[in-house]
Amino acid sequence: MSAPHATPEPAAERLHFIEERVQADVAQGRHGGRVHTRFPPEPNGYLHLGHAKSICLNFSLTQRFGGRCNLRFDDTNPTTESVEYVESIQRDVKWLGFEWSELYFASGFFEAIYEFAEELVRKGLAYVCDLDAEAMRELRGTLTAPGKPSPFRGRSVAENLDLLRRMRAGEFPEGARTLRAKIDMASPNMNLRDPVLYRILHADHHRTGSAWRIYPTYDYAHPLCDALEGITHSICTLEFENHRPLYDWVRDNCSTPHKPEQIEFARLNVTYTVLSKRKLLRLVNEKHVSGWDDPRLPTLSGLRRRGYTPSALRTFCERIGVAKFNSTIDVVQLENALRDDLNKTAPRAMAVLRPLRLVIENFPDGQVDELEAVNNPEDPAAGSRKVPFSKVLYIERDDFRVDAPKDFFRLAPGKEVRLRYAYFVTAKSFTLDPATGEVTEVVCTYDPATRGGNAPDGRKVKGTIHWVSAAHAVNAPVRLYDHLFAAEFPEEVPEGQDFLVNLNPKSLELLSNAQLEPSLARLAAGSSVQFERHGYFVADALDSRPGAPVFNRSVALRDSWAKIEKKPANAKPASGRK
Ligand code: ATP
Ligand code: MG
Repeated sequence: MSAPHATPEPAAERLHFIEERVQADVAQGRHGGRVHTRFPPEPNGYLHLGHAKSICLNFSLTQRFGGRCNLRFDDTNPTTESVEYVESIQRDVKWLGFEWSELYFASGFFEAIYEFAEELVRKGLAYVCDLDAEAMRELRGTLTAPGKPSPFRGRSVAENLDLLRRMRAGEFPEGARTLRAKIDMASPNMNLRDPVLYRILHADHHRTGSAWRIYPTYDYAHPLCDALEGITHSICTLEFENHRPLYDWVRDNCSTPHKPEQIEFARLNVTYTVLSKRKLLRLVNEKHVSGWDDPRLPTLSGLRRRGYTPSALRTFCERIGVAKFNSTIDVVQLENALRDDLNKTAPRAMAVLRPLRLVIENFPDGQVDELEAVNNPEDPAAGSRKVPFSKVLYIERDDFRVDAPKDFFRLAPGKEVRLRYAYFVTAKSFTLDPATGEVTEVVCTYDPATRGGNAPDGRKVKGTIHWVSAAHAVNAPVRLYDHLFAAEFPEEVPEGQDFLVNLNPKSLELLSNAQLEPSLARLAAGSSVQFERHGYFVADALDSRPGAPVFNRSVALRDSWAKIEKKPANAKPASGRK
């Protein structure tokens, strides 16, 4: 059969090393010219950003070269896996924007995988070993010393077959025996020193129930699943590089229908976070976060709740490329991908996060002006809206200073500023709380001739600040998130210490008194918006109620306003480690 060879896109951009390899394979008709990849998560946790990288890589290869990509659950450890994870993983892959060709479970291949084990036994390439884990380790040798053969290595084929079948039937207790490949106890590659293929586990499985009392190891099951699904390029992370000889051994010694090839790439690491299900599980179980979907977590469910869009994540994965050597990506790259995406799509609105009352002395009592505000300057089609303006407003506490330095261009006694989309105002006086010394109210005057934001006499003001009409404002809880870890490389801890020491105690700040422009009350849960001068926010998908949104900060703006207004920059610099 001549497989349809998809012509690669005319590649103006550079191909990464895996694309180059697949392109060459297709050109040479290797694997019948087919490209078939898979994303093989173990359903023992929620997907994270590292998985997104692997998903984008596997699916985009087949989009580029024409081919298929499966979703396969690598469900060979029944004790740590569950249906909850199986379901969340499918939801997350779809949400990222990909559709798998076929859905498989490694457990669906258990019978075939077992048959291959009998084949290996019959060929004299596998044996049942009665050593416990401890004794096996002792005989395994070290990197510098060869291992010693197990005393059970010489068992006859008949005895091995009999014992293997009894292992399967559940006759022996857990840990009593294993099935091991007979390869080379002196191999410089420790993975080839008679690795375990099957272990006894009297555990029920979320799909196969109590049918199995033995479960295959990852190294044994993975190449067989790949082969049975017709995978051509089995992409995994670098830790598996020295497992490749074992992958090839299993593939070549079992009479599989296809002969897939393993290709390794560097795991994704990102500054100020951890990308390991085991560590994420600890954060969840020990309640350092509110759950798998805590907006501070790098899980896809957390990122979604934080306001990350699938396209921002795909852009991020594409921009960072595919590497052969491990490195850590600066989290700023992730944030920039989101900013670039939301800048084009998110409507703008005014929100005062830490309110201060501003009273306009000469504005008529009871008058409400409906002022025209642009919804998205990047998207003329987004149109405009009316924002109510009245005598009493809220402005940010930060936007007023009693003793303002020369280069403070916002409001201060005697200074004139522009209220966004509204008028010029000049501060006249202020009131202090006698107990705290804090400013509680500012009184100003406005110039009616400056409606819309320009003075007919041509006079200029240096600062523009946002505001919300107090009588019309919507009060909503706002959560400001920061990095979950205070350290750039949270996993780098002194001997004997735990990565949790690097948790950022200020990763969540809850604002209960934010005052928002009225249009925001109608924002649908899960929708994004830019609070002007602050950043991108999302109406929390879980906690928002109709008419009563709760906002999560997705990402702050680049500090361009800060530069314009010479405000002390609050964005922290982060440098990547390459
Ligand atoms: P973890 O260490 O978080 O448990 P894992 O590799 O054990 O990750 P799996 O469910 O076995 O998780 O992974 C499914 C696929 O996702 C594998 O092909 C794996 O290589 C890939 N993957 C997991 N983490 C990363 C990462 N940080 N960067 C790139 N790919 C990853
Ligand atoms: Mg794993």
